[in-house]
Amino acid sequence: PTVRELLAGGAVSYSFEFFPPKSDEGERQLWRTIRELEGLSPTFVSVTYGAGGSNRDRTVRITGRIAAETTLNPVAHLTCVGHSRAELRSVVGAYADAGVRNILALRGDPPGGPGQPWVRHPDGFDHAEELVALIRQLGDFCVGVAAFPEGHPEAESLEADARYLARKAKAGADFAITQFFFDADDYFALVERASRYGCDIPIIPGIMPVTNVRQIERMALLSGAEFPADLAERLLAVEDDPAAVRAIGVEVATELCLKLLAGGAPGLHFYTLNRSTATREIYANIAGVRAAR
Ligand code: FAD
Repeated sequence: PTVRELLAGGAVSYSFEFFPPKSDEGERQLWRTIRELEGLSPTFVSVTYGAGGSNRDRTVRITGRIAAETTLNPVAHLTCVGHSRAELRSVVGAYADAGVRNILALRGDPPGGPGQPWVRHPDGFDHAEELVALIRQLGDFCVGVAAFPEGHPEAESLEADARYLARKAKAGADFAITQFFFDADDYFALVERASRYGCDIPIIPGIMPVTNVRQIERMALLSGAEFPADLAERLLAVEDDPAAVRAIGVEVATELCLKLLAGGAPGLHFYTLNRSTATREIYANIAGVRAAR
């Protein structure tokens, strides 16, 4: 089934995101994680698309293996970075050949790195919207897109950003997944803004459990997401105790997830960083609370 069909069923969607590892040891670790999370029967799992080079092929290979060898439903990410239209068509073809029918269509970060100006391939695309339309033209794919509760770092305004999300939906996107964030109200405000522009596709909130203190700075740098000062303080206070840091990260993420579901979010998308422990703990917490209600 496609993600579109699964979301239409109305049950809360759970999904897990992985990235293609650079080494064979990393790939073995990823497969352990995939097998550990398979038992939770998620609605789908997704695999990111690298900034360039050979690990782009790994995305095709890993999503293909997930489709062929597991019970999981893979979503393959694809970005416009450094690709001509012909190349994009050929990657979409490779996904189709590997049995992958769900694609997350992204522009990708500027080739020079986040914060640098966007440079498109001379025969490529400037915006995810165009990639959505291309994939839809190429066949019966289910297409997802990115959304940003705090606004995309390059966006002129939150309103403009929501308008572009609505345009991606109009171009054929079936669902959206958000960048991670820490305040549930930012997510609900995005859903409200998007709906004012006629965007009514399911918007799945992205959850990043904080499991170590080093992550804090890196995450804020990469995503532009505001890291709450009080949470940073709590984490730094137990900096030297990894188990305590993870326990706080899991507790805070659990609270956020429960708020999101209570407010009507269609599901939860976990950024796993290719590890399963924190995600499994949060999942168990949520299942426990929901069963008790
Ligand atoms: P777009 O929707 O094209 O938006 C980019 C910017 O342009 C925004 O500021 C937007 O407001 C503006 N804009 C959009 N449309 C228009 C328009 N028609 N006219 C004028 N302005 C417009 N990156 C990777 O490299 N690989 C991945 O696998 C990956 N996966 C991701 C998964 C998720 C869930 C998320 C949230 C992000 C992911 N990213 C990934 C990062 C993403 O590629 C970057 O954030 C990128 O900078 C924006 O991508 P986009 O698809 O939102 O772009």
